[in-house]
Amino acid sequence: MGSSSQSRRQRREKRSDQTRSRLLAWAELQKLYDQIPPMTCKGKCTQACGLIPLERLELEEIRRRLGRRFQEKWLRSGEAYGVEFMLGTDELECPLLVDGKCSVYDIRPLICRLYGVAAGMRCQHGCECTRVMSDVEAKALIKKVGKLSADLYD
Ligand code: SF4
Repeated sequence: MGSSSQSRRQRREKRSDQTRSRLLAWAELQKLYDQIPPMTCKGKCTQACGLIPLERLELEEIRRRLGRRFQEKWLRSGEAYGVEFMLGTDELECPLLVDGKCSVYDIRPLICRLYGVAAGMRCQHGCECTRVMSDVEAKALIKKVGKLSADLYD
């Protein structure tokens, strides 16, 4: 076997290792999301869909979902918030809010899932969750998601 076909095979193997690691990390992320108590959402909080902090693991899933519709200009550094990225338009709105609805609801980032559930982020429209998460609990979850993302990408 020639060296070029060998390196092609190595590249293919590397890509499939990366895909496997990403899928495993995504499955772990779902388990962390599942720790958030469910809530009945009336969909009235879209004005809260502003500039959002998110981890790279969450960002890459959104990027994959949107493909060419994803715009790099939506990205800002999340350093001030202790995360890797912030996502938002120049008007500081979430670009994923389309026609008044979240266009990536099933893969929305952690911060959006905590809204209305964490003690410090209660819903102003009266939507109720089955259990309010303490801020300590919410912060611990934020930390775990950050670590999962860092383990994969750093
Ligand atoms: S990702 Fe969805 S839920 Fe989160 S801020 Fe954007 S539009 Fe709102």
